[in-house]
Amino acid sequence: MQLEPAVSAVIVPPDDGGRDTGRSTPMPSAPPQTPGDTSPPIPSLLRLVNFIFHDVLEDEFTISGFSGPGADWYKLSLANFEALLDTISANSRYPLEHLAESASIPPPSNATLLTFDDGGASCFDPIAGTLESRGLRARFFVVTARLGQPGFLSVGQCRELAARGHIVGSHSESHPAVFSGLPKQIQVNEWRNSRIMLEQLIGSDITSASVPGGNFSRTVAASAAEAGYKLLFTSEPVTRVSRGPEGLLVAGRVMLTKASHAPEVAALARCSASAMSKRWLLWNGRKVLKRSLRPLYDRIRLRIIERQGPETRNPPKR
Ligand SMILES: [Zn+2]
Repeated sequence: MQLEPAVSAVIVPPDDGGRDTGRSTPMPSAPPQTPGDTSPPIPSLLRLVNFIFHDVLEDEFTISGFSGPGADWYKLSLANFEALLDTISANSRYPLEHLAESASIPPPSNATLLTFDDGGASCFDPIAGTLESRGLRARFFVVTARLGQPGFLSVGQCRELAARGHIVGSHSESHPAVFSGLPKQIQVNEWRNSRIMLEQLIGSDITSASVPGGNFSRTVAASAAEAGYKLLFTSEPVTRVSRGPEGLLVAGRVMLTKASHAPEVAALARCSASAMSKRWLLWNGRKVLKRSLRPLYDRIRLRIIERQGPETRNPPKR
């Protein structure tokens, strides 16, 4: 579930939208590797255009993922999802990640990645099948305490997604409301418990995770690294991959909701500087707003979503 950015999230410089400048200047947010760090270096100026999806509902009766007006905002109809996939495929500046045989973390070169948060039941059907019919694979980040609960992936489905060539990662153990507000050791426990459970289920190393609620901070990066992850996806709308503590790679993402329209998604897929900057300003503007008006902000936001009406919250299948 993706409610809003954290108050304590790290504000990073605006991304330049992936323009190829021809310069080989290092990434400002990527400190040099420390002595003894044996992890592979980040390719210079590696860029990932990562889209965040949540659930895809085949019809209005489908139940998948977290529920409530805030969560429903991120649930797409199948027709809308397929249209967005078409838009991304037709406009991507970088190759869409296919994850065919052996997945590299991170991809060895600039790429467009499809990620899905929360581990709702729709990840298995219809999302995985829809992707596979196009030759695509994706990265699914699951809330491990929810596995097997109504509306979420079962253990067997989670295992099958990995067997079918998708990457399964952690979205924390319990999806705390404000992850970055937790003491660091609690964060480490959330990450570690989730990783261990997934490794036992799938039988291979789990090395990537996404931050629940987009609540990213330097401590969240440090806790993920301490819990053994190598690649952490945030909800910061940037395309540069940076290096965090202990060699952790940190990659931003852009959120897609039922309000996402084809022209903007096409611009984001093309890595348009203006589209990325607009997302960055909106995301960081919300942080400032939330910091000062948090209780009121949450009430106003939910009221706006509720006023969209049931047809907008759950558009009919076309
Ligand atoms: Zn989430």
